[in-house]
Amino acid sequence: MIKIAIQKSGRLYDESIDLLRKCGLKIDNGKGQLKAKIKHYDAEVFFLRNSDIPQYLEDGIVDLAIIGENVITEKQANVTNLLGLGFSQCRLSIATPKDMAYTDIKSLEGKKIATSYPNTLRTFLDENNVNADLHIISGSVEIAPNIGLADAICDLVSSGSTLFKNGLVEQEIILESEAVIAANNSAISEKSELIEDILFRIRAVLKAENNRYILFNIPDDKIETVSGILPVLKSPTVLPLIEEGWSSIHTVINQKDFWNVISKIKKEGAQGILVLPIENMIL
Ligand code: ATP
Ligand code: MG
Repeated sequence: MIKIAIQKSGRLYDESIDLLRKCGLKIDNGKGQLKAKIKHYDAEVFFLRNSDIPQYLEDGIVDLAIIGENVITEKQANVTNLLGLGFSQCRLSIATPKDMAYTDIKSLEGKKIATSYPNTLRTFLDENNVNADLHIISGSVEIAPNIGLADAICDLVSSGSTLFKNGLVEQEIILESEAVIAANNSAISEKSELIEDILFRIRAVLKAENNRYILFNIPDDKIETVSGILPVLKSPTVLPLIEEGWSSIHTVINQKDFWNVISKIKKEGAQGILVLPIENMIL
């Protein structure tokens, strides 16, 4: 039996459930529960507060967790980060009011900084030999300067629009973060088979999300030219069409190269280009 923690509600919830579902791990009972069984798989999901997850993971109450890297760092949890999941990207940054004079990190000397990330911030300030006063608050950190609670803030930023709306300017990036799957250190050896199976499934899902299945028709005399353009896994599948002198090419391409490749093959005479999402990629 493997126990997996996910955030019980909040920014990570939907994508965590979605990832598990794509891995064939479907949850048996609904929201509002503390834990749920997985259908036809030897696993349970625990719904926990984000900020509690690192401790539960370190203590072995759960074996695996989907969690923001930033929380593991802040809690200084002794756990193993197994794999980045590519969602909930954000950074932990220091921001100051736009009318405050700021030249470099030394400008924060003697200032009061509001944050929910005191450990990470303290380490960063110490490394830079800056003495500042930390004011620890658990939410709505960005309003602290406006209400006179602090001179600056240290908080998570993704688009930067919250900072902008509150008249704050991002000055220093302390760390970059994304959602990861992390493991309890002993579980890695004691439950290696189940953990390997789950990682294998996650990798297949992530890989599939980055790739597209593409098929198109091409005159036979262009097959070689077009094959040279396609960054294929092995070599493309070529099937003859009933219409003499034409073939259909099937292959998988990376999302990154996508438009580039489409433009080039179109120029070479490709027709009827179809692009399909891939459910899973087992390599
Ligand atoms: P709890 O579950 O304890 O209430 P929380 O309030 O930190 O935790 P959320 O605000 O839902 O929970 O954030 C969860 C995670 O989402 C963060 O720890 C971070 O990894 C990620 N995240 C991504 N972008 C942002 C952002 N712009 N602001 C805050 N968190 C972000
Ligand atoms: Mg919260």
